[in-house]
Amino acid sequence: MRQAIVIGAGIAGIAVSIRLALKGLNVTVLEANSYPGGKLSEFVLGDFRFDAGPSLFTLPELVDELFELSGRKSEYYFRHVKLDLGCRYFYEDGTVLNAWADPQKFALEVEAKLGIPSNRLLIHLQDAARKYNLTKGIFLERSLHKIRSYFQKDVLKAMLNVRSLDLGKTMHEANQKALSEPRLVQLFDRFATYNGSNPYRAPGVLNLIPHLEHGIGACFPMGGMVEITNSLVRLAKELGVQFEFGKKVERIIVEGGRATGVMVESKRLEADLVVSNMDIVPTYRKLLPDQKAPEKVLNHERSSSALIFYWGIREQFDQLDLHNIFFSQDYAAEFKGIFDGGELAADPTVYVHISSKMEERDAPEGQENWFVMVNVPGNKGQDWDVHIPQIRERVLDKLSRILAKDIRSMIRCEAILDPRSIESKTSSYQGSLYGASSNSQMSAFFRHANFSRKISGLYFCGGSVHPGGGIPLCLLSAKIVASLVDAA
Ligand code: FAD
Repeated sequence: MRQAIVIGAGIAGIAVSIRLALKGLNVTVLEANSYPGGKLSEFVLGDFRFDAGPSLFTLPELVDELFELSGRKSEYYFRHVKLDLGCRYFYEDGTVLNAWADPQKFALEVEAKLGIPSNRLLIHLQDAARKYNLTKGIFLERSLHKIRSYFQKDVLKAMLNVRSLDLGKTMHEANQKALSEPRLVQLFDRFATYNGSNPYRAPGVLNLIPHLEHGIGACFPMGGMVEITNSLVRLAKELGVQFEFGKKVERIIVEGGRATGVMVESKRLEADLVVSNMDIVPTYRKLLPDQKAPEKVLNHERSSSALIFYWGIREQFDQLDLHNIFFSQDYAAEFKGIFDGGELAADPTVYVHISSKMEERDAPEGQENWFVMVNVPGNKGQDWDVHIPQIRERVLDKLSRILAKDIRSMIRCEAILDPRSIESKTSSYQGSLYGASSNSQMSAFFRHANFSRKISGLYFCGGSVHPGGGIPLCLLSAKIVASLVDAA
């Protein structure tokens, strides 16, 4: 039986272990932490449970598919419900807007609250669907680095429609042209943050992202986001995958142009193929120090990072939903601060996720578990110990002002995650949430391939390589790796 070693039990590492086990390989996953999931994990603080990282779940069929491929009914392992309300948006002028998953309902809400004819929003959402359907096969589902990927019908179709993909505009320019109302433009610009990018630089084709929430629909996994990790680990174990925790891989062994194993705790473990789910930058810098690194790819601008305050809140807020956004007044200045060396926002956009709205067990009765996140630049040695308390005060002022309650006095317990701790807990270079940014038209081509051109038997999956970050794309990276192993 061929032996595969997977470095890292992030969501892509777990998914690839399942796919390789299904191909009849003997699979061992070596994970540095004492728990699986990487960014997609959980922790308990006092009486409150928190998902540590991701909170928005789209394309659940990519998880279900892994159970079905294994001959299991996914609902026995993993249950998710579709959300009616995508997100509730709060603006400083007092507007509160419900972004319903149902496009018609959303469009009527926009018409009533912002005075934009419903048809205008519906056309914009249809355009998002069109962009998504035209490009997903090319940019998301196949390797961009294999010539055979380009000899497909959908590539020709996309080429014929290339002018309508808004590649020559930024997301903001395209949203501005289509919607013009500043609050609505800001709402749609926000979708750039779904892959950690800047709407004032990211290409307009990324205006396909809203289709995930307002076309296909977002979901909530029962038991919390961590159930994605837990259910897939359970499946992987049933398929015979071996997980070894507390095992930090030190080197990938390369002999005669082939990956032949890894070094862990100074011991050699043999393998026929190695898949790294570690971020691509430290994979080259730390695990392959003697190999020539693809500098252009490794130096590509990173996606944003985040500062998260996990608060156990002693009250319940009926005006809040599962996903809530409190917008800043100057979005352009905010992104300048995140990506272009500007000042950190004096008035940041704040995201509040409350899983106890769906899972009562996540907080004591009458209380709530708040995951409060602000986008910030990646870790480049800034003085976070100075920035964090400043941002915390701004966030508390903003939430208290808009919700007309003294939030400070309601915090029962607190934990904080910042770019440094994201980096140290998951090896994510600069603590970026989604690997490389998508801030240019060519970004997709600057992500590392899912395989090594120079070292046979070496593959890469996860948010820092093709097709990019976020749970769905990580799952797709695992699928592409499995297809490449087949073809090898
Ligand atoms: P990671 O989660 O990065 O894990 C990599 C694993 O490899 C880690 O467990 C690490 O310990 C292990 N490892 C690293 N080096 C070694 C080594 N040398 N030896 C052994 N093990 C090693 N995505 C969404 O879809 N929706 C969201 O709402 C969302 N929100 C986010 C919010 C936050 C705060 C964060 C941090 C991320 C968010 N994301 C979101 C992004 C999403 O979490 C990631 O894209 C995805 O989880 C990354 O998975 P991965 O497979 O690349 O591995």
